[in-house]
Amino acid sequence: METSWSLHVLSEILSAFSTEDPDNLRNVLNRVAESVDAEVAAIICNRSINWCIGLSEEDQQLLLEELNNHPSDINIRSGTLRTCWAPMGPRNQLFVGRLGERFDLEERSLLRAMARSIELSMKMLTAVSSERSARKNALFQATHDALTGLPNRRMVLDRLQATIDHLSADDSLLTAVLFIDIDRFKWINDAHGHSAGDQLLIHVSHILKQAVRHDDLVGRLSGDEFIVITRTSHQDDASQLASRIIEAIRQPLKVAGSELSHTVSIGISFAHVGDSPSTLLENADMAMYQAKALGRGRHSSFHSTMRLQAQQRLSLEEALGNAVQNGENKTFLQPIFRLTDETLSGFEALLRWQHPQLGLLMPDTFLEQAEDSGLIQEIDMCVFASACAAIAGWQQIPGLSDLRLSSNLSARSLSDPRVKGRIKEILEATGINPTSVYLEITETTLVEDNESTVATINALRDLDLRLAIDDFGTGYSSLLYLKRFPVGVLKIDRSFVSGLGSNSEDEVIATTIISLAKALELEVVAEGVENKHQLDRMRELGCDYGQGYWFGRPITIEATDVAIIEPLRQSPLSLNPLNP
Ligand code: C2E
Ligand code: CA
Ligand code: CA
Repeated sequence: METSWSLHVLSEILSAFSTEDPDNLRNVLNRVAESVDAEVAAIICNRSINWCIGLSEEDQQLLLEELNNHPSDINIRSGTLRTCWAPMGPRNQLFVGRLGERFDLEERSLLRAMARSIELSMKMLTAVSSERSARKNALFQATHDALTGLPNRRMVLDRLQATIDHLSADDSLLTAVLFIDIDRFKWINDAHGHSAGDQLLIHVSHILKQAVRHDDLVGRLSGDEFIVITRTSHQDDASQLASRIIEAIRQPLKVAGSELSHTVSIGISFAHVGDSPSTLLENADMAMYQAKALGRGRHSSFHSTMRLQAQQRLSLEEALGNAVQNGENKTFLQPIFRLTDETLSGFEALLRWQHPQLGLLMPDTFLEQAEDSGLIQEIDMCVFASACAAIAGWQQIPGLSDLRLSSNLSARSLSDPRVKGRIKEILEATGINPTSVYLEITETTLVEDNESTVATINALRDLDLRLAIDDFGTGYSSLLYLKRFPVGVLKIDRSFVSGLGSNSEDEVIATTIISLAKALELEVVAEGVENKHQLDRMRELGCDYGQGYWFGRPITIEATDVAIIEPLRQSPLSLNPLNP
């Protein structure tokens, strides 16, 4: 055995391992066997054969049985193996054997040296591969979302940048970005718990992955926002993909025994040469916003006018901040009448915005911004304070001491722990009779069962005022809260009132709400009474109060004083200014 030859084998062993390919071990064993003219070579790790050459399964079994004895001869089928065992660390060993002469001293020491270098290389290999997988893991975590395993915002932006870089003006394929947002996700999370929310997110990620092609990208931007980047030959293909996704996600999902029904809204934008990834996402986001505004569960494609609308929304939000400071919010009052004798019962306070340029704005044009920006608490309290002051004054008029006030409170206001203190201050400052005050909140607010909302509602109990459930029948009617909270009034949504006499379903719903209210000893107000027929029908059904254009439109406090209160001052006995 030439020394140079053995050194050569050793260096080959090391270089074989340094390629980090575990399969190289077989080559290494071959080189070991070759270098000492052996027929058989094996590496035994922890009492089992890890790699071997030249051993049948039967012979391997034989070898394992002899492992502890380290025999110098083993009889295998083809003859007697002259063996050599070389230790590799405490638990592993290198085994070689040949059918001819025994191994001499020099061969044995060479094999031991090889065993040590194999051991070293194997250690290096494990260290390298575990470091590699740690690095891979870290990279994966930095670029993927932990819950769904989807690429995260960072990777989505990188991928978009790469896609844009490869765009050319004469490209036959379009790159479409779909911005997918789960509708009312916050509500699902609050009502069914976070683990249900998580399951829904995972479910949506599966559906998205199934809906797209292999080389499309599905990512999660944040919270309930997902992205699909896809190549299509036509704009319609992207719309069709969006429709397919919406339909697939619409199917109810069973979570912890209850069925979650949910929808997504999708905005689509297309990449152009020179775009930036963030612009593309913004455009898709704006289109998604439009889809939501059109009624959720649908898709819209980006159009440049949307950018203008978004800017308008933004400037509206800025202006709204000033409006609160400049006192541009106005309180209008709409009368509510008892149906039995058509006398005045009270008023609902309704918000208006006297915009310096745009004129008088209705709440639905700016309420969403007021909610989103957190200005709504301030606005709600302004409306409540001015209405309380007016009603408190009118309660001094003989015959009007029970005049009621209904004022709207948004979910945001209710979840604000400071609101109770503000309400208490306003009640005390104006001297209004608290038992004549109703705070109108929508069903959804109550069903959301938000902890701080429940705390506020319970705190309101000791102020002696009561709740009116607004738009009753349109939300997620859960009757539980009617008993849990100090509810005094149900307001039948005007969509059911308008169908009276023509839509039998509306009749049934109105009848049901009224009998439900009677059973729970609650009062009922019919909203949106616009004609005599609706008024008569509501009275027949046993509804207590009516509100709507038939009785009077919302007007300013000053106008109310002139048109409704003044006649009552003149003739206190008649509470019905319509039929004095
Ligand atoms: P709402 O609480 O259901 O108020 C009733 C809405 O119906 C009012 O719309 C009112 O003007 C309208 N209305 C009344 N009678 C009739 C009728 O006979 N026919 C028709 N078609 N409509 C009628 P408005 O004033 O535009 O308010 C819209 C919504 O904005 C309100 O719905 C309420 O949810 C919200 N809102 C109004 N003021 C405030 C406020 O001060 N704070 C909060 N948080 N929300 C408010
Ligand atoms: Ca209301
Ligand atoms: Ca209402």
